Formats: sequence, C-alpha cells, structure tokens
Amino acid sequence: MAYDRDIIIFGGGIAGLFTAARLRRAGYDVAVIEKDALGGVQTLASQGMIHGGQKYTLTGKATGAATAAAAMPERWEACFSGTGELDLSAVKKLSGRQVMFPAGSFFANLVSRLTVFAAAKAVNGKTRKLPRSGFPPPLRRGPVYEMQECVLDVKSLITALAGLLDGRIFKGEPTALSADGRVTTGEKAFRAKMIIFAGGAGNETALKLLGVGARRTQRRPLRQIMVRPMPQALFGHGIAAGPKPRVTITSHPAHAGGTSHPAHAGGTSHPDGAEHYIWYLGGNIAERGAKMTNDDAIAFAQREMCAIFPTIDWRGKEWASHAVDRAEAFSDGAELAAGPRLQKYGNVLLVWPTKLTFAPSMADLVLAQLEKDDISPSSGTAAHDLPPVAMGRYPWEDAQWRKI
Ligand SMILES: Cc1cc2nc3c(=O)[nH]c(=O)nc-3n(C[C@H](O)[C@H](O)[C@H](O)COP(=O)(O)OP(=O)(O)OC[C@H]3O[C@@H](n4cnc5c(N)ncnc54)[C@H](O)[C@@H]3O)c2cc1C
Repeated sequence: MAYDRDIIIFGGGIAGLFTAARLRRAGYDVAVIEKDALGGVQTLASQGMIHGGQKYTLTGKATGAATAAAAMPERWEACFSGTGELDLSAVKKLSGRQVMFPAGSFFANLVSRLTVFAAAKAVNGKTRKLPRSGFPPPLRRGPVYEMQECVLDVKSLITALAGLLDGRIFKGEPTALSADGRVTTGEKAFRAKMIIFAGGAGNETALKLLGVGARRTQRRPLRQIMVRPMPQALFGHGIAAGPKPRVTITSHPAHAGGTSHPAHAGGTSHPDGAEHYIWYLGGNIAERGAKMTNDDAIAFAQREMCAIFPTIDWRGKEWASHAVDRAEAFSDGAELAAGPRLQKYGNVLLVWPTKLTFAPSMADLVLAQLEKDDISPSSGTAAHDLPPVAMGRYPWEDAQWRKI
C-alpha cells in the first residue's frame, strides 16, 4: 500500500504541533494541516500556565487532574533547557513563578486563607510561603505562596514547535475522511497510515465526516477579561472559598511588538522595559462571565477586581473581553477530564490535551497507540502541494477596548 505520509495531523494548536514534533523526532514522516492560523483557537487564547496541580486542589485534596499535572512542570523544564523530549530552548517565559493569594471578601477572608494554605500543601513541596517583604505588588494580604510553575509566551512556544517541523506545516482542511486513513482537502486526496485530529472544537468536524452520531465531545465556555494599562505584572491565582480561583491573572507586555520578559517572580514591575501590561483574567471571573453579555461580563469583572484589589485605582482603565470555548472529549457531568484524551476510529485518532500543560503526556498516548497498532516510521513519498500558514494572534491584539 502506498502512503503519502506516515501521519497527517489536522490542527496547528499545541496538540497538533507538540504531537507532530514528537512523532517527527521518533522518525515518522508527518505533516500538519491547519485551517486558519498557527496557535489556533484555544492555545493563543490560553493563559500559558504550566500547571503542576495546585490550582486543582482548592478543595484541599489532590484530584485526578492535580496528580496528572504534578509531573508536567519538570518535563516542560527539561524541554526549555534543551535536554528534554523536544528542544524548546528558544521558548520565552513570561514568568518563572506563579503565586496563590487570598482573594476572599472581608468576611470570607479566613476561609480563603485556609483554602490557599490547603491547596499550597496538597500536591507537592515545591511551594514556598513568601515573607511579607517578598509579596509581589500590588498584593498586601497574606498568606502568599509561590509555586514553581512557569507562564509561557505562547507565541514563542508555537514558533519553536513550528521550527522543529520546518516544511511540514500546510494550510487546508478536510472535506472528506474515511476511517481507513484516506482524506481529501479541497482538490487533493491523501492517504496516511494514521490521521490525527487535533482540532480542538474542530474535532467535531472529523466526527461528522466519519459519520459518528453519538456525542463524543463537549465545550465549556469562558469569557476572558482584559484590562489595561496595568503598571505591574502579576501571575497567579486569587483564591476564595470554592473549588476554582476567584481570578487567575497573567500579564502581557503592552509595548510595541508585545515581546516577553525574562523569568522572574510571581509579580514584578516591568524589568523588560514594558511601558505597561495587559492583565488577562480567567478563573471564576471568566466562568461566570461566559453566561453574560460582553458589557455585563466587563462590569462584573470590574466589580470583582475592585473588591480583590481595593488599593488599585481602577478608574480610566480600558477593558475588553474574549469569549472562547474549552473543547474536550465528552465526559459525564461535563467535568474536567483528569488528563489528555484520545478516541480511535480505525485509522483516525481524535486527541484532546485537555490542558496545554498536558501536551507531553498527550503525545505519549499517541506514540503508544501507534506502537500498539504496529505503525512504524518510514519515509513519505509525496510533497504536499498546499499553501503555508501564518501565525495567529493573541486575543488582546484584536480586542475592542472600552474605557470605563
Ligand atoms: C481561556 C483559556 C485559558 C486557558 N489557560 C490554560 C493555561 O493557562 N494552561 C493550560 O495548561 N491550559 C490552558 N487552557 C487549555 C488549553 O489552552 C487547551 O487545552 C489547549 O490549548 C488545546 O489545544 P488544541 O491544540 O487541542 O486546540 P486549539 O488551540 O483550539 O487548536 C486547534 C487547532 O485546530 C484547527 N482546526 C480545527 N478544525 C480544523 C480542521 N477541520 N482542519 C484543520 N484544522 C482545524 C484550529 O483552527 C486550531 O488552530 C486554557 C484554555 C482556554 C480556553
């Protein structure tokens, strides 16, 4: 049987690119086909945090997701130092650390202090209680815990992965697909030993093309909030009573080019010469905002931020929101899967990392499946005559800002 490629992957987000780079390294002849832009939908909209699990332990006990995440920071760090499964030494970190701080209302403060304490202790010992003098501004209320979990400049990650796949990334999307590994994009038909869909919400297209009627996917909506100009960078989770952070904050340099700065503690004032930062807000603010209009979500976020950071002057800031779905394999009760997921339909695999953090273990699942199916690397026979793909954009690059 003649194959055009060993493996064709649809989707140029973290799932498609990380998996493709691992397969390439294992010797497979792999091509990635992306329909819009590199970094896609969720990946460039993510907060770029490499979780080690603490965030998932706010109930005070280690959950499945926390346990699965615990090994991830070390694997990523090995990649960043050039000694891991992939050489990602060109990736820039926005921060080397994240903090957890109490963000309860006055009366709930005690509960949130206890929740921070329980979460900080539950997963691993790589968490340090900061002395008051070490609190990143604008935090004033303790306890503040520092976690050795970095925050990435996601575009630099996408660029580094694309560099490992030079000449193997194309623009296109499937118009026909069969479970024996044949796929058509526009006028062109290809055959691969395995076709992998890493399309996020676009995996629903694969299921449709394959004629799988049963429910296999779920989406969980978020409305991320953006606010600028912020004088300092802050990276971390504001914890109140409850299983999810009241707010999760990442900070993105807002000077021309939006370049990132070197690794530093959970908060800082512009060591990189950035004029100011855009705070990108997730957590409960984004979960609750998903059920609101843009204006209501911004008003809600503004009230929340005034309550959590009463010492910041919030007048005259510009606000925007970005609605985006987390796309996942279906799981009962629409709860977060405890790790990456894979579904198999003949010679078609559908993959979901569930979190950017889990991309390495998702690639493990794919490699194990290929081994199980006795699909070994060979050299491909066809150059894909498809156009190249451009880098996508961060939500704040296209945001509709409103001064309030
Ligand atoms: C707001 C938000 C914040 C998050 N923050 C974090 C975080 O801090 N840390 C963390 O670990 N995780 C985080 N996550 C989760 C993480 O972003 C996702 O799990 C991960 O990015 C999913 O990657 P993906 O490649 O599967 O999907 P996507 O990034 O959505 O990429 C899918 C790609 O496939 C393409 N595609 C779709 N259909 C087709 C098709 N038919 N043909 C060709 N291409 C197709 C799309 O255009 C897109 O480029 C966050 C998610 C969201 C939404």
